[in-house]
Amino acid sequence: MSCVYLGESKNEFRNKEEVFVCRVNGQCVKKNGNRRMAQCNKCRSHLKLDDSDFASKWIDPVEIYRRDRTPTKGLRDILAGGTAFLVCGGPSANPLLERLNSRGCFSLAVNNAAAHIVRPQAFVCSDPPMKFHQDIWMDPAVMKFVPSAKLSGYRCRMRTKVGGVFRRAERGVDQAPNVWGFKRWSWMYPDDRFFTTDGCCWGNQDDGQRKTGEEKTVCTMLLGLRLLRYFGAKRIYLIGVDFYMTPELNYSFSQARDAGVSASNNKHFRTVNKWLCQMVEGGSFKRFGLEVYNCCERSGLRAFPHMPFDEALADAKGIIGVREAVEPGQPDCEGWYEKSECPKCGSWHIRYTADLSTCLEKKCGFKWDTKKPLNFKKEKKR
Ligand code: SF4
Ligand SMILES: [Zn+2]
Repeated sequence: MSCVYLGESKNEFRNKEEVFVCRVNGQCVKKNGNRRMAQCNKCRSHLKLDDSDFASKWIDPVEIYRRDRTPTKGLRDILAGGTAFLVCGGPSANPLLERLNSRGCFSLAVNNAAAHIVRPQAFVCSDPPMKFHQDIWMDPAVMKFVPSAKLSGYRCRMRTKVGGVFRRAERGVDQAPNVWGFKRWSWMYPDDRFFTTDGCCWGNQDDGQRKTGEEKTVCTMLLGLRLLRYFGAKRIYLIGVDFYMTPELNYSFSQARDAGVSASNNKHFRTVNKWLCQMVEGGSFKRFGLEVYNCCERSGLRAFPHMPFDEALADAKGIIGVREAVEPGQPDCEGWYEKSECPKCGSWHIRYTADLSTCLEKKCGFKWDTKKPLNFKKEKKR
């Protein structure tokens, strides 16, 4: 089995050897490389899909760009193996959105779902920026991810809606705060290649359909899933992924959709459901260390198990470990600047457990119940 990072041939030769795309080193040859050209048979990054520790060794190759289009790897694994909510526009999201605005939750919202009740930490779109609310673009606290082609030129134009009137905005996405680009692919194979490619796949447009032989369908939710994996989320909870639309019940926010458009969307939902079911059955999500749960019980997306929202919310705040979990309510800031020292010898080297503190100073080793006040006069430091 060849290396998971090995891409297509570049149709070039170096010292009579074929050059390939390498998603870690840029390019490589299989043998006879040199300092400038990586060489597969001497490479330390070599990784096979059947490696028993694949998910933890894998370096996600998605290409992310700063607003000035320079590539950056700084956002890879920012969630450090934590959890995230992926918020989409289905009406089942409405009763839940308010509670996502709380400490400990990371949410990435798709399209205009990012402007409806929840103030997410991240947003992704694929269509022209003009379709999305100015309050998303102009909010510096929201990381906004757009296909790299929409980072400049006429494709980065924005609109505003003030007093019910749409106007062209004076600035574009290129001047909005906290904007990032990503490489987008408009083709998709519903298998491991969804994760191994250096771009985010969002389905098939015409060329993609010719390339893959799959149905012509695109879905921005797929970009959200892929980006969250790149950010290092290990568990994702889907919100508002109803995958079923009627003219009366279409989005969580007000939007006109007639019967024809609803039927067409439902057809796309069925295709995406089929792809994701195929990927789950083929083990792709498991291989890449990603668990996905759907908080919409009666969703048309059947690929992932259901998890009630309350459970997801509690889990999202506790996955790093029970003691490190974010506490509900307002944080208790009292006492954090006061020195915690051993009441006997004054050492700062203390091990804390839930109810017992132990002085780590070798000659002392004093243990005490942290919750009970001590009637103990500490020795003066010499
Ligand atoms: S073995 Fe190394 S050089 Fe070859 S494709 Fe894999 S990462 Fe690139
Ligand atoms: Zn001590």
